[in-house]
Amino acid sequence: MTAQIIDGKAFAAGVRERVALAAAALKDKHGLTPGLAVVLVGEDAASQVYVNSKAKQTAEAGMASFKHELPAETPQEDLIALVQSLNADPAVHGILVQMPLPDHMNEAVVVNTIDPDKDVDGLTAISAGRLVLGQEGLVPCTPRGVLMLVKDTLGDLTGLHALVIGRSILVGKPVAQLLLAENCTVTMAHSRTKDLPGLCRQADIVVAAVGRERMVKGDWLKPGATVMDVGINRIPASERGEGKTRLVGDVDFDEAVKVAGAITPVPGGIGPMTVACLLRNTVIAACRQAGVPVPAELDG
Ligand code: NDP
Repeated sequence: MTAQIIDGKAFAAGVRERVALAAAALKDKHGLTPGLAVVLVGEDAASQVYVNSKAKQTAEAGMASFKHELPAETPQEDLIALVQSLNADPAVHGILVQMPLPDHMNEAVVVNTIDPDKDVDGLTAISAGRLVLGQEGLVPCTPRGVLMLVKDTLGDLTGLHALVIGRSILVGKPVAQLLLAENCTVTMAHSRTKDLPGLCRQADIVVAAVGRERMVKGDWLKPGATVMDVGINRIPASERGEGKTRLVGDVDFDEAVKVAGAITPVPGGIGPMTVACLLRNTVIAACRQAGVPVPAELDG
């Protein structure tokens, strides 16, 4: 048996298309242009790539993109003042502060300065609380992307056993909440979990968000399981005698593909969903702030 390989890249392109249609409809009907502000502090090369990609995709979806780049030595008060000015700016519906921040800053303090209604990363304490309480809010992007792909693959998730490996605020915890809200029976695993392979073998859905290359082996999986590999691990070129760094997931894909029913590849699985869901969140945030209905294109 060979698993269905879930094409996150194609699915994310579809989400971005629907976001662009929704943005165009909002402009036509309500004169509303959703706007996303992205703030980068410092010169971290990977962060610059992410921020540029987010800004480009925002503009491509017909939305307004505001990029703020601050030097690494910026005092935290200045960053907070910028976030507060973005909170007050009616043209900005979503605010994202790119992580990691320089060491002299407290990420939680900065993040929680963001107005929860503009928190398109879904990382403020208020957004996390709304998710747990089942209230309307903004859901973190990678977890939303995982849920969209799982639902697209399996349809109704009621009663399925989902194992989430990893309990980070960014991925594991919100993924577990989303699956619980879909009536899955959710088990959460982490670095202190006993008999992870045994737990894994009981799961209909496995979400791996660990950051350890190829940790989940093929013989850990229940035959036919749906495997969502969130991990992004860089294998340096020198280890392979090749000229390019390679990306691998937290799941041993070559083994897992022979056992799973469906699996996301790395790259091209969950990764592209993150920015697509960020754009989607920005349109949703804009609609709620303007008091207009969220366009039907964004359902699901
Ligand atoms: P964190 O480092 O914040 O969390 C990792 C989690 O994995 C922790 O809960 C940790 O447990 C758990 N863990 C570590 N070792 C083991 C182990 N041996 N067995 C079981 N659990 C273990 O990572 P993130 O959640 O931020 O990211 C996880 C992965 O997802 C990374 O590879 C990251 O690059 C990728 N990622 C991808 C995104 C995308 O596709 N767009 C977005 C965000 C992340 P404990 O809590 O006990 O320490």
